[in-house]
Amino acid sequence: MPLYESQSIKIYNSLNGEKQDFKPITPGYVGMYVCGPTVYSNVHLGNVRTFMSFDVIYRYLKHLEYKVRYVRNITDAGHLENDADEGEDRIAKKARLEAIEPMEVVQRYTVDFHNILNTFNFLPPSIEPTATGHIIEQIEIIKNIIDNGFAYEVNGSVYFDVLKYNESKSYGILSKRKVEDLIHNTRALDGQSDKKNPQDFALWKKAEPQHIMRWPSPWSDGFPGWHLECTAMSTKYLGEQFDIHGGGMDLKFPHHECEIAQAEATNDKAPVNYWMHANMLIMNGKKMAKSTGNYILPNEIFSGDNPHITKAYLPSVARFFMLQAHYRSILDFTNNGLLASEKGYFRLMDAINLIDNLKTSGTSSVDIQNWRQKCYDAMNDDFNTPVLIANLFDGAKFINQIKDGSATITQEDLDLLRSTIATFTFDILGLKNSDKEVAGSDKLSSAVEILINLRKEARVNKDFALSDKIRDELSEAGIQLQDGKDGTTFTTN
Ligand SMILES: [Zn+2]
Repeated sequence: MPLYESQSIKIYNSLNGEKQDFKPITPGYVGMYVCGPTVYSNVHLGNVRTFMSFDVIYRYLKHLEYKVRYVRNITDAGHLENDADEGEDRIAKKARLEAIEPMEVVQRYTVDFHNILNTFNFLPPSIEPTATGHIIEQIEIIKNIIDNGFAYEVNGSVYFDVLKYNESKSYGILSKRKVEDLIHNTRALDGQSDKKNPQDFALWKKAEPQHIMRWPSPWSDGFPGWHLECTAMSTKYLGEQFDIHGGGMDLKFPHHECEIAQAEATNDKAPVNYWMHANMLIMNGKKMAKSTGNYILPNEIFSGDNPHITKAYLPSVARFFMLQAHYRSILDFTNNGLLASEKGYFRLMDAINLIDNLKTSGTSSVDIQNWRQKCYDAMNDDFNTPVLIANLFDGAKFINQIKDGSATITQEDLDLLRSTIATFTFDILGLKNSDKEVAGSDKLSSAVEILINLRKEARVNKDFALSDKIRDELSEAGIQLQDGKDGTTFTTN
């Protein structure tokens, strides 16, 4: 009997604001879609937090022996600077500013994104599709929406007709916004726009002559609207109706609202059964923003190279810190919080690393079966990682009590304790054991430092063939060197 038959999950569904029993459409199978990053800059720590929440959910569903298809896209076209279908494409703008090809921007920040997620020990999704790889599918959906009467073409661009849609369907079903209020609150069209109404959104935009990212379509050479790609890719890989759709809270409106409208306008069906939204990450009690300096890049947590932290932290410590908050709570990123998590993380690892030396006896004074079910109960209750972590600390307490003789355990219970604590700590929370992480990273750092110094010498001697060879071969081994004004640093994947 698969594990999911004995554990029943409740999921907080943003669609109705309630915790609901999770029942997949096809028993034993789960389809999950999460909106991925727009790859025009280094991944934001807030996004890392969102993706980590879904990484843990993915891990737990897999642990329960569901067959999970997890789709997380890469937005490499169509995401404009603001949500009102105005401004430049974010990737095209970056490419223009740096005088490089848009696909170079995409490549650079996709690699950065994967490096960071690997460092944080994320599992890769089952499919990671790109918007530019699904232009044909997006054009097909637009044709359907036009045929069904919910979109109109003006001057080579196509817009979704929100008022028309709202006559028979409900625009605002997810975000609980009312179309009347939207009309009221949206500023009037400035005469530049082709839209009939300001709340309409673009499905296809005709490209200006200087716009490099463009594809042929029945309406114009142009590019798809941002919201459309997720409808195209989720439908293609998960079907017209699937189980879970996730993303950051900031995507609920308009992005996810528009996804629902597009899918309903195409298939006349609600596309998603459970909508899940991860809350924000703030820093030192305030919104994180580059412009105010209240900002940290994920990499800087591992190097310690940022004024807001006092030291470098292991990726597992940062991961542990983030998972000590429930995904629906706001997480305040602070140095003190990280220091406390570091202590907690090592306390847990120290206990786990003691477990093989414990002595067993004829009876148990601790109730391991009950403790184990509490670990499941925590995750079954809308993936409550902070409660799970509190339970893992109870497990650590048992280990310490058994070690100092104030508690006893049978061999059978010890085996159960060992496997349960390892499963939840390493497989489900995705932490790495401190022993391996610390020892591994220390030796690796020293070895890479030696190579960095050899490469520096080679460059001083103008032996660029050798210096390039060192960099390229390290890169092949998964170690990327970065030359900065303060010397060379490295990241691993
Ligand atoms: Zn999306």
